[in-house]
Amino acid sequence: MLLNIISQLPEGFTDLGVTELHDVLGGPTLIHLRTENSDKKPLYLSTLLHGNEISSHSVLMQFLKRNQPLNRDLIIFIGNTLAAKEGLRHLPGQVDFNRIWAEGNQVEHKIARQVKDYAKEFSPYASIDLHNNTGKNPFYACINSLDQVFKNLASHFGDHTVFFTEPHNVQSMAFSKICPAVTIEAGLPGETEGIKAALEFVETIYHSDSIEFSNDRAKKDIYHTIARFKVDPRAEVDFEDSPFTSSDLSFVSNLDSRNFEIVRKGARIGYADSLEYLLVENNKGENITDQFLAIEDQKIIMKRTFIPSMFTKDIYVMKEDCLGYLMEVMIPLNAQR
Ligand SMILES: [Zn+2]
Repeated sequence: MLLNIISQLPEGFTDLGVTELHDVLGGPTLIHLRTENSDKKPLYLSTLLHGNEISSHSVLMQFLKRNQPLNRDLIIFIGNTLAAKEGLRHLPGQVDFNRIWAEGNQVEHKIARQVKDYAKEFSPYASIDLHNNTGKNPFYACINSLDQVFKNLASHFGDHTVFFTEPHNVQSMAFSKICPAVTIEAGLPGETEGIKAALEFVETIYHSDSIEFSNDRAKKDIYHTIARFKVDPRAEVDFEDSPFTSSDLSFVSNLDSRNFEIVRKGARIGYADSLEYLLVENNKGENITDQFLAIEDQKIIMKRTFIPSMFTKDIYVMKEDCLGYLMEVMIPLNAQR
């Protein structure tokens, strides 16, 4: 699997379904569409790093249909086409395409380096990486730098802005060294509202002449990811919220309904006999479970107030990636203005 670089859309491209891309493109593909308008820097658009996060595909296709002819160069990366064909985040045994943007020796790391080197040469105006969540979340944007232009970029999408430094090997982190970069989390895969919001965002940025702060945003705080919950792959998990099941972890059934809301100290998130299968890890990878979790009469109790994000009920995702992130409010989005 190598990177394809093409400068034209294959025939009938904008009508291709997400599962059809792989047979046409053959693998990860960079499409550089050039226009007469060479005084404008290209917009970089990243799609399908996770093969089952199909909103990015809908956004790309609708954007291309609505913006002909283009009036700014566009560099499009279509990531894990093979996983998209199978409807999976990534194939079993394959690396996660949004964890390949730093050091690493696999062929996917090499592809990521090629993509980054290619984009760097054309100094993009901005980089937008489109994703979905597996759990219920409001729409939000993630940044990996607190420079004002990053906050400005993020202010145009969703209700919230999240700043994080781990995982460090994501696309938006790598591109933040090249240009203003953002990760868009547009709700559940294929959700109409999320596609609409993400498409509007891409169009706003694409047609803008400079990236200014959007005052439309009601909530101007930035959330900072400080730690994440990890679930042992050996654990039996259910959502019965009961001390009487045979599972190792029995979480509350609405675990993902409190994303971006304050969860107070003393709150119960489920039942377990011990913390053998659940841990909290900070950004340095250190185990800080003791600061956050306790077992009292089999109840899993929060020892500190926090704001969750990306809490998921998808057992595969929680074991492979994480159950969710713990955040705290950092600073107002427009603090330096
Ligand atoms: Zn994703």
